[in-house]
Amino acid sequence: MDTKKRILTGDRTTGKLHLGHYVGSLQSRVELQDEYDEFILLADVQALTTHFAEPSLINSSIYDVAMDNLSVGLDPEKVTIVQQSQVSSIAELTIFYSMLVTVNQLRHNPTIKTEAKNYGYADLTYGFLGYPVSQTADITFCNADLVPVGEDQVPHIELARKIVRKFNELYGTSIVEPQVKLSKVGRLSGLDGNAKMGKSMGNAIYLSDSPQAVWERVRNAVTDPARITVKIPGHPEICNVYKYHCVFNQGEVSNIGEMCKNAAIGCVACKKLLNGALNALLDPIREKRHYYEEHRNEVRDLIISGTAKANAVGNANLQDIKEKMHVII
Ligand code: ATP
Ligand code: MG
Repeated sequence: MDTKKRILTGDRTTGKLHLGHYVGSLQSRVELQDEYDEFILLADVQALTTHFAEPSLINSSIYDVAMDNLSVGLDPEKVTIVQQSQVSSIAELTIFYSMLVTVNQLRHNPTIKTEAKNYGYADLTYGFLGYPVSQTADITFCNADLVPVGEDQVPHIELARKIVRKFNELYGTSIVEPQVKLSKVGRLSGLDGNAKMGKSMGNAIYLSDSPQAVWERVRNAVTDPARITVKIPGHPEICNVYKYHCVFNQGEVSNIGEMCKNAAIGCVACKKLLNGALNALLDPIREKRHYYEEHRNEVRDLIISGTAKANAVGNANLQDIKEKMHVII
């Protein structure tokens, strides 16, 4: 019998994955794949909460997100890749959980507020406002113990824990209360200086970007605005590109910081060094991705078999939950 603890995490299928995903969650997924039984969710229902008018983007992103996860080194023999919309127990649990959450709890959720602002929503749909409830169902349909996510997800995991506690108390169920796992870089900023690199925000470097595309994006990244010429000493502590050096170029970062402060290196040269470090990270990822792009059917089969396994696990748990709720006659 499998006694490993379980991880559930995933990504919205709203486009390709980027460096923020890598440092915020993907790296942890790879590190923990031996120790934990991992479920990786292709969150297409959650994608609909904001991208309901773009079904073809969501469809192609199901493959993209699966391929990005595989490209960073997740082993298809070890992890289970799951398509959210095809797991009926998630939808059913969402309805049950929704009885235990108030509208104000959701309205005051800081991530909901930030995202609504970023999307420019004057009013919120029921689906968008309620996505943290659906996410609680994502995490708990398989009784996940641990959820490796970026900082923006912390309020959602806190809500999930509250819902689970209340549900267990009410119905005598033993749904696992999930724990959050934050990585060292809980939030990678965007190339435009925005607090978060986001795939719907046009400020990202994608894991599948070509070397040319990476350089274009790095070249255009926002730096210290006071540094109009190379002769003016820079302020690395407020420079976005320096932040990236801290994360992706640890070998050279202190030297680069000193040179910047002493006006011994210009922004273009500094960006070229970052570009080199990023491509060293991305080259092996690109190589793996190329394989999966050439073998789309293999990716499809992995998604279908992973989703079947998730349904078996979810249906068994849901049956038990329904019995405890006395909804079975
Ligand atoms: P969208 O803009 O469509 O919401 P996203 O870039 O926020 O896309 P998600 O699919 O919502 O991506 O997030 C997937 C996972 O990646 C979550 O755990 C999230 O916290 C993490 N993540 C996303 N962006 C970042 C970031 N910039 N820094 C750290 N973690 C991130
Ligand atoms: Mg997001």
